[in-house]
Amino acid sequence: MMSAIKLAIVGVGKIVHDQHLPAVAANPDFQLVASASRHHTVEGLPGFTSIEAMLAAVPEIDAVSLCMPPQYRYQAARAALLAGKHVFLEKPPGATLSEVADLEALAAARGLTLFTSWHSRYAPGVQPAKAYLAAHAPAAMQVIWKEDVRQWHPNQEWIWQAGGLGVFDPGINALSIVTEILPAPIFLNRAALEFPENRDAPIGAELQFQDGAGMPVRASFDWRQTGKQSWDIVVQTAGGELKLSDGGARLWLGGVEQPLEKEAEYPSLYRRFAELVRAGRSDVDVAPLRHVADAFMLGQRKVVEAFHD
Ligand code: NAP
Repeated sequence: MMSAIKLAIVGVGKIVHDQHLPAVAANPDFQLVASASRHHTVEGLPGFTSIEAMLAAVPEIDAVSLCMPPQYRYQAARAALLAGKHVFLEKPPGATLSEVADLEALAAARGLTLFTSWHSRYAPGVQPAKAYLAAHAPAAMQVIWKEDVRQWHPNQEWIWQAGGLGVFDPGINALSIVTEILPAPIFLNRAALEFPENRDAPIGAELQFQDGAGMPVRASFDWRQTGKQSWDIVVQTAGGELKLSDGGARLWLGGVEQPLEKEAEYPSLYRRFAELVRAGRSDVDVAPLRHVADAFMLGQRKVVEAFHD
């Protein structure tokens, strides 16, 4: 049997506790050996306040998962790659496209694995939806991603700062599914972004894309949704309507809900990361981040009322 990949977690916060720790604990391909975070530790593990201190003190680390906010991922990833470690990047993989390209080149030059993880692509309905759309050409797609930021991101200052992406933090999950399931690439035609007057990142976005043949994709992202939350993608095809809901956890074809395998997203992500490390390969896909960058480049800006947590 192959020895476990010795893993360290960096940036201990909500997603580490909710998803990374249970997924790693359940996967025999990994052994968690250390963590690095300025203020937080993981019970039972040696903890360090910086990645540099951790890499120096625990040389047996094989790989790191970088779970801090995106504005701070590049420096940590570079330090890890220079120290010879494989790198799992939480989504979004960085604050800019160019810094991810720089990491991709560094990982390739050093023969290390770089994985831009997109957890929503591992929701159970996503691969069946992709297979359906490969067989039934899409005619139009609508994405509705509307949630209450106070419920899902309370007091997360970084998310409202430049590079934190605002409503694109959840919206990029939708774009990661869209770019996975559509048979042809899309590009942005128009966008309108709403910025609270006291914040650097948007609270709402309306986006219009098309593919090369003109198939329209409209997306509405909103963080002011109270009551029912929506993470839905609806596609019209000649074979009928496809609907993914709950962020890809449920799938309807022609109005009939489909039975789905129930493996959760993060166990699948770590299975994929282990495969990549064992095979000596990288998986770097920036398509969702590129669409967000395009929205910031092309989008009209509207200033809306101040947002307070
Ligand atoms: P979070 O709870 O705010 O945790 C991030 C951790 O990163 C903090 O606890 C903090 O720990 C560390 N950190 C390092 N530098 C920081 C800085 N300058 N400002 C703030 N924190 C800093 O965030 P999260 O929800 O876990 O999200 C982290 C990443 O995972 C984001 O990219 C997010 O998009 C992604 N993600 C989140 C979710 C979710 O449901 N929350 C789901 C999927 C993916 P120290 O103070 O100890 O350094």
